[in-house]
Amino acid sequence: MLDNLSSSLKDALKKLAGKTVVDRAAVDDLVKDLQRALISSDVNVKLVMELSKAIRTRSLEEEPPKGMNVREHVLRIVYQELVRLVWASTEVKLEPQTILMAGLQGSGKTTTTAKLARYFQKKGMKVGVICADTFRPGAFDQISTLCTKINVPCFGNPQEKDALKITREGLAALKEQELIIVDTQGRHALEAELIKEIIDLNVLTKATHRWLVIDAALGQQASEQAKRFHEAIGIDGVIITKMDGTAKGGGAMSAVAETKSGIAFIGSGETIEDLERFDPDGFISRLLG
Ligand code: GDP
Repeated sequence: MLDNLSSSLKDALKKLAGKTVVDRAAVDDLVKDLQRALISSDVNVKLVMELSKAIRTRSLEEEPPKGMNVREHVLRIVYQELVRLVWASTEVKLEPQTILMAGLQGSGKTTTTAKLARYFQKKGMKVGVICADTFRPGAFDQISTLCTKINVPCFGNPQEKDALKITREGLAALKEQELIIVDTQGRHALEAELIKEIIDLNVLTKATHRWLVIDAALGQQASEQAKRFHEAIGIDGVIITKMDGTAKGGGAMSAVAETKSGIAFIGSGETIEDLERFDPDGFISRLLG
């Protein structure tokens, strides 16, 4: 993913090779190329403007450090701005906690819940899962099957429609577990009921973390989703799924910026092991070559 963005960014930066002084025209050209590359990768326009303004100002105002040529100087600024705005990593602690999962249907929320359970289990924690998704038929079967495979207790009740009641009972039933992950309902759209329920679940569970699951293939809608969930419950980490696909990825990046949090994990496949902690430096290094 992000292949197009990566090659466009590299091309834009290549044009600075051989330059010995940073001139305004060259920076303007670069910023235009960057904007085009970011927008065609679905990065939110407001974010593109913020990024390009910072890159332009810093490239023109900051002296290149000794021994650094113009291309390296600007590349470093582009790199730092991308890290600062979009890709700060989220701290993940191995201590007792409750994690509330947010996201729309199809984002990969249920699969990611199981992947996270596996991740923390492998780190030696006692993990339990609550299925508070009472909206999608089959949600409980899906998550409980995945949990059974990894021997993680999963609480749910496919006959019960009240997600708060299930969660309250689940918290009591799983009180021996150190870490609880609550899978919530996800609809096709941001409906008021969905938002209300997740607010109530956040209050009920006193969640330590509220992580938003976003599909890497999502375009401009990603920012809107992130904004609504963030306003409702204060998202403090994003998990981008389907990074193994060929998606443009810019929508998910914009979602991260919208929540002013960072990327906690990335999903890189369909199996329960396909979850990685996010390494911003490595990721951006690859992006900029
Ligand atoms: P939910 O509706 O948000 O709970 O979504 P699901 O967890 O049911 O996932 C929807 C689809 O996306 C399923 O077919 C998953 O196997 C798939 N999926 C989830 N995460 C990933 C990922 O990281 N990579 C790939 N390739 N597929 C994924």
